[in-house]
Amino acid sequence: MAVREARPRSGQYDQTAGPVLIIGAGPAGLAAAAELGRLGVPAQIIERSDAVAASWRTRYDRLRLNTCRWNSMLGLGDRFEAGTPWFPVRDHAVRYLESFALRHDLNVRFGVQVDRIDPDAGGWRVSTSTGPLTAQHVIVAIGHQHTPWLPDWPGRDQFPGRIVHSRDYRNPDGFRGRDVLVVGGGCSGLDIARDLAQDGARRVRVAVRTQPNLLLRSARGVPSDLLAAGLLRMPTRIADPIGRMVQRMTVGDLSQWGLTVPDVGIFTRLHQEGSPPVIVGAEVIAAIRAGEIEIVPGVSAVNADGVRLTDGTALQPDAIVAATGYTTGLEPIVGHLGVLDEHGMPFHYRGPAVRPGLRFLGYAPCMGVIGRDARRVIRHLYRELTSPEAATATPEPARPAPAASIPEPAVSPEAARPASRP
Ligand SMILES: Cc1cc2nc3c(=O)[nH]c(=O)nc-3n(C[C@H](O)[C@H](O)[C@H](O)COP(=O)(O)OP(=O)(O)OC[C@H]3O[C@@H](n4cnc5c(N)ncnc54)[C@H](O)[C@@H]3O)c2cc1C
Repeated sequence: MAVREARPRSGQYDQTAGPVLIIGAGPAGLAAAAELGRLGVPAQIIERSDAVAASWRTRYDRLRLNTCRWNSMLGLGDRFEAGTPWFPVRDHAVRYLESFALRHDLNVRFGVQVDRIDPDAGGWRVSTSTGPLTAQHVIVAIGHQHTPWLPDWPGRDQFPGRIVHSRDYRNPDGFRGRDVLVVGGGCSGLDIARDLAQDGARRVRVAVRTQPNLLLRSARGVPSDLLAAGLLRMPTRIADPIGRMVQRMTVGDLSQWGLTVPDVGIFTRLHQEGSPPVIVGAEVIAAIRAGEIEIVPGVSAVNADGVRLTDGTALQPDAIVAATGYTTGLEPIVGHLGVLDEHGMPFHYRGPAVRPGLRFLGYAPCMGVIGRDARRVIRHLYRELTSPEAATATPEPARPAPAASIPEPAVSPEAARPASRP
């Protein structure tokens, strides 16, 4: 039965089982709680910060989503506020999530950080900053881009300038008049480089290790994330040439500025490596063509002498912005339970429990997909809660998610990176 058809069946859910405990009040946690509410199952969200959508609130000031608003909604009929452009900005996303939480009357306890989860008689013991909690069913939704990851460049601590992870970059204040090296040629790296170049950095270079498959946010009026979602369903021998044609028509040839089109097509790369195309605004491409952003090879060392690139060039930037990705941050919380793969990703995050009563949600790269995953996860949970057979059945053993379930239409380098290392 599709979850859309499921109706609250009062009496079937054993209320003495207590609420489902959801960790994290980001899009994934909110979507899960709203789906449970729709089915009459109580949910308690616990959140370490003091507001919903905490990760969105702290992103850089000029962030514009790479997913169009249709692909950035969690479902359940909630929409972005009237007047939101096709590609919302950060604050539209925050307001959308705030009103989603209000409209579904979600129960969130703020200021509670989860440190560890352990099995407990018939359920789970959740150790938090405010004391232990127990629950029969727990959903971990602490975010795919949880912990900033910085390459372990030998001598990094001796670098004389400032090193900032892209997570902590807000705006060009503090970088005006400076020579800045952005490390990482993904969506955030290129977007931040453009922000810096536009607003007063003296020189902006971007160190690119792997040539990105670039796409514009929209291709001749069609949002690229929707186009990619459609092409993703086709065989790569058809989708790759179409993707290449779109790249040629919109991004064009940037080889004289240091960006060459990778040999591997967009969708082959996505399927084989889980590495999505890099979606940027047209203004980023214009800044590269104008020489306001210079593309240089990847970084091999950062130390007291400055930066060395993989081609041997030495640079002495005043500051480094490391757009080098994130880890899931799940290891200290659930690593001892044997539910994570070698990249720190949960074995399941789209439906089944990894251990009886323990689920993960939010390990897909965009909110539209997370909303759909939430429906699947809650459908599984609801079946378990309301069917005695499901509740007593031996849970399926945890196993790695199939590779094909990892890649999704791309939004940002960090967003779609399934690995614990960039
Ligand atoms: C720069 C950037 C740009 C992006 N652009 C897009 C885009 O254009 N479109 C798009 O759809 N997606 C985008 N994403 C991905 C986006 O972040 C996700 O789609 C979405 O926010 C993931 O939702 P989530 O709830 O899984 O995680 P999060 O939004 O990260 O929420 C997790 C929540 O858990 C809380 N938490 C974390 N650890 C704990 C703990 N131990 N205890 C208690 N609470 C905890 C956090 O405070 C947070 O509130 C972008 C990501 C980045 C980094």
